[in-house]
Amino acid sequence: MDDDEFRVWSHKAADWGVNYRRGLRNRPVRAQTMPGATFNAIPPSAPELPEAMDAIFADFERIVMPGITHWQHPRFFAYFPANAAPASVIAEQFVSAIAAQCMLWQTSPSATELETRVLDWLRRALGLPEGFKGVIQDSASSATLAAVLVMRERALKWSGNRQGLSGQPRLRIYSSDQVHTSIDRAIWISGIGEDNLVRIPVLGEMRGLDVAALDAAIVSDQQAGFLPAGIVASVGGTSVGGTDNVAGICEVARRHDLYVHVDAAWAGSAMICPEFRHLWEGVALADSLVLNPHKWLGAQFDCSAHFLRDPESLVRTLAIHPEFLKTHGHDGIINYSEWSIPLGRRFRALKIWFLLRAYGLDGLRNMIRNHVRWSEALAARLTQTVDFRVTTRPILSLFSFRHEPKNVADLDEHNLRLINAINNDGRIYLTQTKVDGQFVIRFQAGSFDMTEADADAAFDVIIEIARQVSARAASA
Ligand code: PLP
Repeated sequence: MDDDEFRVWSHKAADWGVNYRRGLRNRPVRAQTMPGATFNAIPPSAPELPEAMDAIFADFERIVMPGITHWQHPRFFAYFPANAAPASVIAEQFVSAIAAQCMLWQTSPSATELETRVLDWLRRALGLPEGFKGVIQDSASSATLAAVLVMRERALKWSGNRQGLSGQPRLRIYSSDQVHTSIDRAIWISGIGEDNLVRIPVLGEMRGLDVAALDAAIVSDQQAGFLPAGIVASVGGTSVGGTDNVAGICEVARRHDLYVHVDAAWAGSAMICPEFRHLWEGVALADSLVLNPHKWLGAQFDCSAHFLRDPESLVRTLAIHPEFLKTHGHDGIINYSEWSIPLGRRFRALKIWFLLRAYGLDGLRNMIRNHVRWSEALAARLTQTVDFRVTTRPILSLFSFRHEPKNVADLDEHNLRLINAINNDGRIYLTQTKVDGQFVIRFQAGSFDMTEADADAAFDVIIEIARQVSARAASA
């Protein structure tokens, strides 16, 4: 591809992106395809000779696009959002043209220094105290793994990386059962082992862990010869938004000298609105926390903000200094690859910078407040609708519900049929979870381009399809 062709196709790609976003409401949200359809449409081997871009583009539209689930669709109500605000998409276009590998300060000084600055913007926007320093990780899973490794090293007096875990006391990490599975994986990968992840029961509507039970579990483990290392707290859990009492957890941790990591991957973005900060009250006492601007805030995937009170403990855990990575002659600079598990780093700070400047904190707050309001209104409408039950009340913009018609014997099966019918219809996209052993349907409002009319459309589609599924069951 020569420069002229690169220019032509860059323009086409940019135009295509705008038209794609504009036309999203006309597409089904979830891919309406069968397993194997894309794989089987692609030849088994790569071409020996170059192909024309026209042909490649035609196949992209014909083969790839039908198998895409549209995460930027305004009626994407599944999982959590992975918003890519247009300004952050533009930043990624520049990043992809520059294609710098930003592992060290000297491999792109402005990438490092912009990262320091925009994470400090974010820290202030979230109301976190000055002592917190931030780093961008690829994912919340990486941030949590890094935090669990710090817990391990700190508890073992920094000997785990050298000596391994054999012969060491058995470490213990504590969390509720509402935390994301990235915590389980961090426990596996760190060598601590799932049997040493102690699940503390949850209490009340917020499904936050029982702080007294946490304290008792730690004391009992100490008496039994285990070595408690840390606690992972949840603010806005993935299933139904389970939220711990962070202040209470930090108080227990302080008494036992344990490290606290807060997973606020989804809910953390909402903390730019002061009125939601009660959900993580006490976070200033935690040792680290993670939130994903790539979820709700609008920074194109991937972009995870990891804040630490003492970055030295992270660097002590992860930094490694072979000669070929040394930056002689530059003292006092940050090499962010020492703060993360992968060595190579994309230039992720640019999209946060573009995002925060193009929409302003006020614009982003408005979006989040609207989502919370529309979600609460939808939950209230479903509560008042015959045969519907809201099974968990909204935490921010996430709630769950179930359709419970009187004449249906197996309500789990019925709700599974309902969600499949809704997603096959394609006008909206929802996902499911279990609450107290029952199959329920999740709804979260979070798409960057969502309007109130989209929330109304969600209500209409849910009611219409629930009636159809019930009628089919009655006539079967
Ligand atoms: N924590 C929570 C609460 C999540 O909801 C998710 C993903 O949805 C994660 C962690 C993992 O995030 P990531 O995909 O960035 O690793």
